[in-house]
Amino acid sequence: MKRIGIIGAMELEVKQLKEKMRIERIVEKAGMEFFVGTLHDIDVVIVRSGIGKVNAALCIQILADVFQVTHVINTGVAGSLNADLDIGDILISTDAIQHDIDVRVFGYQIGEVPQLGYREFVANKEMVRIAVESCKEVNPDVNVRTGRVLSGDQFISNKDVKENLITTYHGDCVEMEGAAVAHGACLNHIPFVIIRAISDKADDSAEMDYPTFEKAAAKHSAALVEHMVTSL
Ligand code: SAH
Repeated sequence: MKRIGIIGAMELEVKQLKEKMRIERIVEKAGMEFFVGTLHDIDVVIVRSGIGKVNAALCIQILADVFQVTHVINTGVAGSLNADLDIGDILISTDAIQHDIDVRVFGYQIGEVPQLGYREFVANKEMVRIAVESCKEVNPDVNVRTGRVLSGDQFISNKDVKENLITTYHGDCVEMEGAAVAHGACLNHIPFVIIRAISDKADDSAEMDYPTFEKAAAKHSAALVEHMVTSL
């Protein structure tokens, strides 16, 4: 049976979805509240993981072990690394990389988790396709693109750091959870997609832009997820 896990790092990223769902029970684990129920008659578990890769990894493992989710969607906001992605636009993941891992000294690629055998966590192609189509239906005025998500335990708000991420990893957006969700999803063989609305440009203006645009951006992403669950 299909059951979709929906993870947002912050309350504002999942609030709207929780308000729309029919809640059957709330399970608390690792300081997170897992809202179990249905969204448009589809079984879902919606949860705020908290910020950063460790929280995201704990969260996806609980979704796998305790709730046996069959699909995972990570919704939220991100900084843009692509000149074609402006504030308010949406990026759907093709793959994700942890940009703060560096074990090159032992022959690994930068960003590669040692002994895993690959660096990029590849999103489920069918989920990507459905996300793009849903976006066109729900947010017809919003520019949507597919591309690479970079995640690390840092808020990127510096032009030089941003440029370095672009040249090193060819990322399209940067945030702090997606690749950890992706890593956990891959290890548990659960198809996933990351959906991120752009809240800032990860440069010297990010500190100002982020608080201004986070709410509107998070809403775009959540609206898309709401529509998407019915098509999965
Ligand atoms: N305002 C929060 C902190 C937000 S951290 C507080 O005060 O507690 C930024 C969040 O948005 C993370 O969840 C991350 O995934 C995402 N994000 C948006 N823009 C980002 C950027 N430029 N760099 C890194 N993460 C970003």
